[in-house]
Amino acid sequence: MIYSVIVDLSASEVDRIFDYKGEGYKVGARVLVNFANRPTEGYIIGEKEKTDYDPAKIKEIIRPLDDFVAISPEFLQLGEFMRREYHLRWADVLRLFIPPQMRGNRVKVLSKQQVCLATEDSLDVILDSLKPNATAQRDLVTFLYLNGATLAEKINAEFGNSALRALKQKGIVQTQDIVVRRTPYKGIPLSPPQRRTLLDAQQNAVETVLNDRQGKFLLHGVTGSGKTEVYLTIIERIVAEGKSCIMLVPEISLTPGMLRQLRERFGDNVALLHSGLSSGERYDEWLRLKNGEAQIAIGARSAVFAPLKNIGAIIIDEEHDASYISDFNPRYNTIEVANFRAEQNGALLLLGSATPSLGSYYEAKQGRLKLIEMPERINKKPLPHVEIVDMTQETRSGNKGIFSRLLKERLGETLQKGNQAMLFLNRRGYSSFLMCTKCGYVAKCTDCDVSLTVHRDDNMLKCHYCGKHYYMLDKCPNCKESSFRQGRIGTQQIEELLHKLFPDVKVLRMDADTTQTKESHGKILDAFAKGEAQILVGTQMIAKGHDFPKVTLVGILDGDQSLHHSDYLATERTFQLITQVAGRSGRDRDAGTVVLQTYTPAHYCLQLASRQDYIGFYKREINLREASAFPPFTEIVRILYIGEKEKDCIDQLTEQYAMLSDLKRKYSTAFLYLDKMRCPLKRAEKKYRFQILIKLSKESVKQIIPQIYAICDGKKRSSVQISVERDPQNLS
Ligand code: ADP
Ligand code: ZN
Repeated sequence: MIYSVIVDLSASEVDRIFDYKGEGYKVGARVLVNFANRPTEGYIIGEKEKTDYDPAKIKEIIRPLDDFVAISPEFLQLGEFMRREYHLRWADVLRLFIPPQMRGNRVKVLSKQQVCLATEDSLDVILDSLKPNATAQRDLVTFLYLNGATLAEKINAEFGNSALRALKQKGIVQTQDIVVRRTPYKGIPLSPPQRRTLLDAQQNAVETVLNDRQGKFLLHGVTGSGKTEVYLTIIERIVAEGKSCIMLVPEISLTPGMLRQLRERFGDNVALLHSGLSSGERYDEWLRLKNGEAQIAIGARSAVFAPLKNIGAIIIDEEHDASYISDFNPRYNTIEVANFRAEQNGALLLLGSATPSLGSYYEAKQGRLKLIEMPERINKKPLPHVEIVDMTQETRSGNKGIFSRLLKERLGETLQKGNQAMLFLNRRGYSSFLMCTKCGYVAKCTDCDVSLTVHRDDNMLKCHYCGKHYYMLDKCPNCKESSFRQGRIGTQQIEELLHKLFPDVKVLRMDADTTQTKESHGKILDAFAKGEAQILVGTQMIAKGHDFPKVTLVGILDGDQSLHHSDYLATERTFQLITQVAGRSGRDRDAGTVVLQTYTPAHYCLQLASRQDYIGFYKREINLREASAFPPFTEIVRILYIGEKEKDCIDQLTEQYAMLSDLKRKYSTAFLYLDKMRCPLKRAEKKYRFQILIKLSKESVKQIIPQIYAICDGKKRSSVQISVERDPQNLS
C-alpha cells in the first residue's frame, strides 16, 4: 500500500505530501519515516494503490509511533478546512490536534506496579501458612485482604520490600502494571455540588437551546445573570444522553473556583486541556477524552480540538474575548473552528457573553444565530452604579494625580466598611495616542476616524489603517493649550501610591510581571478571594469571570487608554472591558459602585458602558462600521512580512504588492482598499516588520482570498516570513 505522509517539519518548503510504502497502517496514524536521510516523524493523511513517482524510489515507513491512531478522519477534514480558510501548512495544523509533547516522544503513558493477593484462600488459611514471627508478611497479607489491590510504592513504604519479595516468592501475592492517569486537580478540595433551581430566564435559555440540537445560539446575558448555570445544565443534559461536550473559556477564567464547580458536578467525566498543565497531565487528559473515559472537555482556545467523538454541544463562554483568535502561527478563529466541528457532529453551538462581539450580535440580528437574552441579574440585583469622573476638570482644578478626588473618597468608604476594591488599568497594544489633558481632544485621522499613533522616532502622527502622516502637534487645535499627556501610568506606580494613601491596607497586584509562573495567577486571585488583601490592582487580567462577593468598588483609572487606540476595534473593546470590569462590583449583598476616570466623559462609548447599555452601543457602533466600511461589513486582510534583512522584506513586499495591484485592477469593486507600509511595531526580536493592508467587500471574500493566498505562495525568499491574517485583532 502507498501512504500519503506529511513530515512533521514546519518549514514551508516541505509543505507537501510525500509517498511512502508499507502494510497495515491506518490513515491518521503517526509514523517514523526516512526523510532527507534521517528518521523523521510524520502523519499518514491518505492511502492509495499506486504512486505517481518511480515505485522503486519509494521508501518504506520505518514504524508506527503510537499504538493508536492519533488523528481521526474527522480531524483530517477539519485540517483541510483550516488549510483552506487560514492558509496554514499541514504540519502546523496537524500539530494542533495532538498534545505538544507527543511529538518527539517526550511524554508517555505512566504505569505503576500494583500488588494484590494471588490466591483465593481465606485470610486464616493464608496466615496459617506463614511463620508466626513473620510480622511484616502477616500484616501485609492482612492489609491486602482488607484493602484489595494497592500501589507497590505504598506497600513497600509501609511493610518493607523484603516482606513483599518473600510473599511473591511463595506465590501468595503478585504484582501487575496498571496505567495511572496524572490529574491536574490535585489540591482542589471537593464538596457536594450546589444544586440550584433554575430561574425562569435560565430555564427558558436551557429549553430554547435544547429544543434545537443542531442550532446555533448567542446567549446575551448581563454580568451576573447566571450564564454559567445555564451552560452546566445544558452539559448535564447532553451528557446524560450519551453525547460529549466541549466548553471553552478564556484562559484567564480557568480559575480554581471554576474548576472546582466543574469537578463537583461532573467528577472524572471532565477533562481539562490547557497550557498550564504539566506535559504528563495534558497527555493523560487528552487520552481520557480520546478513549471516552471523559466526555466533557474544558479549556481555553486549544480545547476546541479536544479528541471527542459524538459531540452534542460546543459552548463558548465570553465569546467576544480576543484570545479566541489566535494571533500567531497557526492563526485561526476558534469560533469558526467550533462551528465546523459542530456541523460535522450535528451538535449545537452556543456562544455566550455579556458583551457579544459586534460581529456575533450582527449575525444574530441577521438570523444566522438564534438570540437568547437574559437582561437581568440573578435576584434582580441592580447593576452597579457607574460614576464618570471628568479628569480634565480634575486637571483644571489642580489635581494632577492619578486618583481623582471622588475615587479616593470612595476607596476610603469601601475600606472603612471592610469591603474590597479592584483598581483597573487598561493596557492594550503598545502604541500611544495623543491626548490633551485640558480638553480631552484626541488626534484622529481625517480619512479613517481612528486615533493617530505617536511615532517618537520621527516625531510624526500616523494612521495605522491608511498610512497617512501628520505633523506632531505642539498645541491642541481645540483649546490652544499645550498640555498633552505623555507616557502611561503603570500598575506598580499605583501600588506604591496606595501604600502612601492607605498605609495599613494590603494591596495585591496582578499584571504581566506578577503572573510569570503558571500558578501565580490563581494564587493572587485566591488570596484576594480569601480577603488577604483589600485592594487588587491589575490590568485586563482582572476584568473577567471572577466572582468576588466582597468587592463593592471598581475603579477604572484610564477609561481612555484603549478607547483611542488606533484601531477600529478600540471602541468595541473598551465597551466590553468597562462592562466586564463593572460587572465585578456588587455581586453579593452590598450594591456596587464603579468610578470611571476619563478625559473624554461625553464619549458615547463611555456613556453607554456606564449604563451597561449594550443594545444602545450596538446600534450606534454598527451604524458607524457600516458607514466607514469596517467589519462585519467588510473583511480586513493583513499580509505580514517579517525578516532580519530589511531589503529582502521590502523587495518581497514590493513584488507581491504589484501582483495585488493587478488583482485590484481586475476586481475593482472587490478591493475597497490596498496599501503597503511599515508595521507600527517596526522591528521586533531583531526582525523588520512590513505589512500590506487590504479591505475587501464582503461579497468578494470567497473569490478573492484564494487568489491572495496564491500570490503569497508565489516566488518567496527564504529570509522573509510571510503570513496572512484575516480580520486581525491586533495591528501592531
Ligand atoms: P454570569 O456568568 O452570567 O456573570 P454567574 O453564572 O457567575 O453569572 O452567576 C452569578 C451568581 O448567581 C453566581 O454567584 C451564581 O452562583 C448565582 N446563581 C446562578 N444561578 C442561580 C440560581 N438559579 N439561583 C441562585 N443563584 C444563582
Ligand atoms: Zn487614516
